[in-house]
Amino acid sequence: MVDYNRKSAIRYANTYCKRTCDCNQHYDGAPPDTTPGQTQLGGGEQEAGDCAHFLSHCLEAGGISNRNDSNSDGQCSKGKYIVTVQKLHKWLIEKKFANETNWSDLKAGDLIFFKSRSHVMIHIGQKKFSGHTNYSNGVTIDPNDVECLHIIGEPLVFYFYASWSPTSKRQIPELNTLQNSLGEYISIKYIDLQEQPQLKEQYSLKVIPTILILKNGRILHQFEGFTNANIIEKSLNPLI
Ligand SMILES: [Zn+2]
Repeated sequence: MVDYNRKSAIRYANTYCKRTCDCNQHYDGAPPDTTPGQTQLGGGEQEAGDCAHFLSHCLEAGGISNRNDSNSDGQCSKGKYIVTVQKLHKWLIEKKFANETNWSDLKAGDLIFFKSRSHVMIHIGQKKFSGHTNYSNGVTIDPNDVECLHIIGEPLVFYFYASWSPTSKRQIPELNTLQNSLGEYISIKYIDLQEQPQLKEQYSLKVIPTILILKNGRILHQFEGFTNANIIEKSLNPLI
């Protein structure tokens, strides 16, 4: 079961970008560029090996640790970590922490591996189309040149509705607000109960509309009828 805290991983990336890693080894990447229209990707390094090491620390901050794993191949003051890009990619897949995804489906906290060079970065939100690191300074990222890994287990918002229901319609702007504020971290799925009536029984739904919040297949919150966006947001925040 993956319980990845994306915000913690991103906070780590933002904190230690451009500085040495908190283990004081190697890492000296450029900061994420926060200029509007520029990149929001963190994890730039000067030497091969540093990026995977840095990303191992970012992932650990988010709750996924390869510290002292049998695959770990580099030692720092914090322990043994995976420091090779290919190894990190393979490890995440093999441990079922991640699966391959498209650039367009990337969530904040997911990883971006470059095909044309041995390099990995973490997506820290507000996806744009260029990278800003010492290694790829201001270079436009070609989505065809990257393999994206999605760390599985992000919160899902299921919105069960019916088109005849006025409350269902009234709920839509609230979901749009939610998409705008947390869309980089969560997935919202719209489910028309007229098209899939069997789900009403499957999820024991009594009210239309109903919103369910799931993580790792478990229902953690349920909201019946019209629900304000900030109420949903409050329940989601600890999960991302
Ligand atoms: Zn380290």
